[in-house]
Amino acid sequence: MKLIVVEDEERVASFLEKGLRAHGYSVEWVPNGQDALQRVMDPGISLVILDLGLPDLDGLDVLEGMRQRGSTVPVLVLSARGRVDDRVKGLNLGADDYLAKPFAFEELLARVRANLRPRAAASRGHGLRRQHLRRPGAA
Ligand code: CA
Repeated sequence: MKLIVVEDEERVASFLEKGLRAHGYSVEWVPNGQDALQRVMDPGISLVILDLGLPDLDGLDVLEGMRQRGSTVPVLVLSARGRVDDRVKGLNLGADDYLAKPFAFEELLARVRANLRPRAAASRGHGLRRQHLRRPGAA
């Protein structure tokens, strides 16, 4: 499964990249918002980890732009802005999850897994096809 890490700090990005790769994920690092808006439209992307403090665009604008373009890919916001109103704003703009920095890698990994579960994907209208839910022989 391929994840995108949108993060301008190389140190954080490489920490995430190494950790996620060690758990079997393929990871692409995107260091700015403009490139993120392009890359997240790639249908091969399973999840986006999105930092809010980016050098060009605000991460929330990236999130809004993605949703406006019709992307339904799960987005996990990772931000130093951990106040309740920041988290609520992120979720309202279409984030699936929100983790405040500093974070424990184990929690990030657990949230990545939770957001990649088919149940979560189905509720967003993709991932599970209807025929997979039908029992054989059922009308
Ligand atoms: Ca940043």
